[in-house]
Amino acid sequence: MNSQTVLVTGGAGYIGSHACVELLQAGFNVVVVDNLCNSKSEALARVQQITGKTLQFYQADIRDPLALANIFEQEAIDTVIHFAGLKAVGESCQQPLRYYENNVYGSMVLIEAMQQANVKQLVFSSSATVYGEPPSVQYVEHFPLSPINPYGRTKAMIEDMLRDVSAADQLVKPENPWKIALLRYFNPIGAHASGLIGEDPNGIPNNLMPYVSQVAIGKLAQLSVFGDDYPTPDGTGIRDYIHVVDLVKGHIKAITALQSDKFAAGGCQAYNLGAGKGYSVLDMVKAFERVTGQTINYKIAPRRAGDLAEFFADPSLALQELDWQVEKTLDDMVADTWAWQTKNPQGYQ
Ligand code: NAD
Ligand code: UDP
Repeated sequence: MNSQTVLVTGGAGYIGSHACVELLQAGFNVVVVDNLCNSKSEALARVQQITGKTLQFYQADIRDPLALANIFEQEAIDTVIHFAGLKAVGESCQQPLRYYENNVYGSMVLIEAMQQANVKQLVFSSSATVYGEPPSVQYVEHFPLSPINPYGRTKAMIEDMLRDVSAADQLVKPENPWKIALLRYFNPIGAHASGLIGEDPNGIPNNLMPYVSQVAIGKLAQLSVFGDDYPTPDGTGIRDYIHVVDLVKGHIKAITALQSDKFAAGGCQAYNLGAGKGYSVLDMVKAFERVTGQTINYKIAPRRAGDLAEFFADPSLALQELDWQVEKTLDDMVADTWAWQTKNPQGYQ
């Protein structure tokens, strides 16, 4: 157990709320800042219900420097996990400036507030989208970054900013350097095993698993499988799905690593968080049917613009340096998604 305090930006969101549970259960004090633009405070009530512990919640925007300064003044923060951001690829193509302003500018304000408060340990939510279309479908951290949409570019820009800030400080303040982990998520799915917290998308889901579970529960009529003519074994797209609880455990491992000898001289390091193994859309549909006993009504539809045929992680660096790897199975991911969906057919409402 420990008495460190972690500030979780975006802590009321899908991944952030699961991170709060794991942090509280590991003995951290948790402070959340979230403007609730894509979440509900009920998620935080459920976090406290699951853990039997309390957290401190500030409803504020990370683009508000005064609000952040106030949080750093009120709370003795040791580390920040930065989840707050907008995440819909399609929306980012329609409203790019909103994405740059929220994600990039918001991160700048946060980094500045951290510098001012002399809090220099950060775990950042990056994404496999930063890679774009690299030379191999199994992504390795050293691959060049060339994201193909505005959302991905916001993540790559924030990564660049953090590498620059870290490098600058290593030169001028080697005794007090930044320690930063950039965690590149593959496809997070699933929910906490209690079924009390989970993904609660606004409107019609964009992502596969929330869509499938809403078809299963009868909220949506039919899944469109986007393309069956990709160069993959069954023709449908392949992704590296990772259970959200495994994913957030990687953040706690990252905090431990930032405090170890490896980061004694500071630094900014990217890690893939994925299973290292891909499943096709039809694999996911079949697994859902097998585990839940439901039938998923689906049709083959045209490819979705901007989708890649296949990618998955090389997660070996996270195993080597963070001592992290996935533990949950595909069946766990499906069963936990379904438990959340059936217990909360209208999400948090
Ligand atoms: P989410 O939308 O559920 O959570 C993000 C949270 O941030 C929300 O609660 C939202 O209200 C809050 N927020 C957004 N802008 C804010 C601002 N300016 N100030 C304060 N709060 C703000 O999304 P998620 O799925 O939990 O994703 C968390 C992070 O992980 C995001 O940065 C996302 O880009 C990244 N990520 C997600 C996925 C995924 O598939 N879910 C994949 C890769 C990376
Ligand atoms: N997908 C699909 N139908 C949907 C949503 C997604 O066939 O309604 C496919 C999509 O083309 C991709 C995979 O499912 O091959 C995962 O898509 P998702 O949007 O969940 O993740 P991402 O595209 O960000 O990897």
